[in-house]
Amino acid sequence: MNVDPQNHRQTKPQPTPPQAQVTRLAPSPTGALHLGNARTFLVNWALARRYGWRIVLRIEDLDGPRVKPGVIEQTIDLLSWLGIDWDEGPIVQSSDLTPYRAAMDELARAGRVYPCDLTRAQIEAAASAPQEGSHEVVFPRTLRPGFHPREFSKDDTNWRFVVEDGPVAYTDQFAGAQRFEPARTIGDFVVWTMRGQPSYQLAVVVDDARQGITQIIRGDDLLESAARQLLLYRALGLGPEPTYTHLPLVRGHDGKRLAKRHGDTRLDAYRAAGVSRERIIALLARWCGITPSPPTAPTAPLTGMSPRDFLTSLDLSRIPRSDVVFTPEDDRWLRAC
Ligand code: GLU
Repeated sequence: MNVDPQNHRQTKPQPTPPQAQVTRLAPSPTGALHLGNARTFLVNWALARRYGWRIVLRIEDLDGPRVKPGVIEQTIDLLSWLGIDWDEGPIVQSSDLTPYRAAMDELARAGRVYPCDLTRAQIEAAASAPQEGSHEVVFPRTLRPGFHPREFSKDDTNWRFVVEDGPVAYTDQFAGAQRFEPARTIGDFVVWTMRGQPSYQLAVVVDDARQGITQIIRGDDLLESAARQLLLYRALGLGPEPTYTHLPLVRGHDGKRLAKRHGDTRLDAYRAAGVSRERIIALLARWCGITPSPPTAPTAPLTGMSPRDFLTSLDLSRIPRSDVVFTPEDDRWLRAC
């Protein structure tokens, strides 16, 4: 029984509210919001609005090259143009590094991270050949210094996280049961970079936890990253762990992930060429299994779809399980309006 401190009367116990669901749109402002990430963002937005999740817009400008002026505004403008809205943000990661430093202090004091100024060449020389199909060199255990608690005092060098042996398993809402062994496939990974900034892996975990994110929807190139992120959640004692939904990527006709060589698939290039957002959403709807794709389509493909119609007709279980292929015909179809 709770006691109301105002008038000392006993109050009825309050039912615990169901956990509020929160998701995030986390574009990297690289200036290239293309059809592939537009599809992921639109699906993320549609699921959130359908199920009443709160949406945080987070600009991930820490990882990668310096962000050019105006690119953040351009990314936000394109999301809005597509019909996407959000409830909180934009929160720009680089605006305050304090939370990431606090996480590093904690990990360092617990002996879970260590500074590492080895070059890539030195690491490669000490490592065994990468496993077939992997382009990542596994950081060799022999290069890890002995365990001891430290101060996070030097922030202009790389710091690595100690990855212990054992599997990391989780159930993805789209891709199903996942099981990875980061100790075997990655080894100790970088959580703080010599640029004086957190790595993507650390920044994403600190932010997802402090922003109360419960639902993560993104491309399945990050399926394995989720295992690393779960290790950080656990090492930092954060929780509850989020629910993951990783969607297949959009690829070019050569099977490679969508890039410049497949033509200019940037949303702002289509917008500048006079392509309407409804036209683009109609293509994304085909890629999400909402409308049939030629040649199975009984009639000519829908010429346009509103964000609202996309939202109401999206069904996660109908999204094709294999990667989507963007073809030159798709490009011609978009522009033929
Ligand atoms: N910023 C990342 C991207 O644009 C997304 C990372 C994430 O969703 O965890 O690819």
